[in-house]
Amino acid sequence: MKPRIHYTKPSITELEIRYASDAAANGWGDQCYAYIHRFEELFKEHLGVNYAIATSSCTGALHMGMAALGISPGDEVIMADTNWIATASPIVHLGAKPVFVDILPDSWCIDPEKAEAAITPRTKAIVAVHLYGNLCDMDRLLAIGEKYGIPIIEDAAEAIGSVWHGKRAGSMGKFGAFSFHGTKTLTTGEGGMFVSNDAELFERVLTLSNHGRARDQKKQFWPDEVGFKYKMSNLQAAIGCAQMERIEELIGRKREILAIYRERLCGLDGISMNPEPAGTVNGAWMPTVVFAPETGISREKLQGAFAAENADARVFFWPLSSLAMFESVTENIHALNIPARAINLPSYHDIKITEIDRVCDVLKKFASSYHVD
Ligand SMILES: *Cc1c(COP(=O)(O)O)cnc(C)c1O
Repeated sequence: MKPRIHYTKPSITELEIRYASDAAANGWGDQCYAYIHRFEELFKEHLGVNYAIATSSCTGALHMGMAALGISPGDEVIMADTNWIATASPIVHLGAKPVFVDILPDSWCIDPEKAEAAITPRTKAIVAVHLYGNLCDMDRLLAIGEKYGIPIIEDAAEAIGSVWHGKRAGSMGKFGAFSFHGTKTLTTGEGGMFVSNDAELFERVLTLSNHGRARDQKKQFWPDEVGFKYKMSNLQAAIGCAQMERIEELIGRKREILAIYRERLCGLDGISMNPEPAGTVNGAWMPTVVFAPETGISREKLQGAFAAENADARVFFWPLSSLAMFESVTENIHALNIPARAINLPSYHDIKITEIDRVCDVLKKFASSYHVD
């Protein structure tokens, strides 16, 4: 058996180990928030936003941000059907309803026209999820938000490094949320970040994030309301600080890996990959290939061939509307149909060129088995 090719794996150097050891040895008492605050500062600077709160996950950041926007029972939140469930679950936990709309066939992100058509008097927000690092059409979405007075939330969990016409993903909406799960471009093991430029919303989330204790509350152990506990630990933040010092390198390597795949695969008939339209930068979290319908290539065939090569083959997200706990939405044709002929490619930072070649050879074999006009 050839050695396994993993799809993601963090890039951890001496720097992360040094900071984590320091946090374990010294990050207590009056230093117990030192790495957390530094991590938040570094993140704000990188993103170009005014406020950031480190959290235990992206899901937690979304949950608190949505709660702070007042999303509550009976409300609707519009999002793309193609996504990880983490974006939908906070909506459900708040008693609101996720409304799943179709994606665009080229970016695999929310179709703004479909989002606009789904707006009702109960719509409280639209979530822009920058899938696999690909960017949503933020100009259109922000214009729709403006027109109807509806906030646009950015789930940028997969989009660190992505830039929309000079603005970083996560910095353009009412608030943004990031994930530092072990599979993401920047990791703290588990972790996340809430970011915003809205001072009022930031204060609201800060209070919620501290079990409902307002910053100016002088009484000790006196919550003013029922809040949340989604904090990041100083130990995790220490790793985050090291990763932030290496952020350009981490993003650069992801982009390099996508570029290598693109160079080897994009000339092939019937294959498309993550787009990078003019004026944008794709953070390239997850290089992905989609075969054209005429090729007859299926997810199952791809998974079989990758397994034979001992390479991880991560399936393209199932439409959330196909899951048992949600109602099916048969008109979301792209969300329903693209995953059946797509696959995520291994892209961990230290992947070797020989491993990329092994993956490309699997795909090239498929491409030689059909002809698309
Ligand atoms: C990873 C991911 C999340 C969840 O992140 P956690 O930190 O695991 O909560 C949310 N949304 C998207 C699009 C993701 O890829």
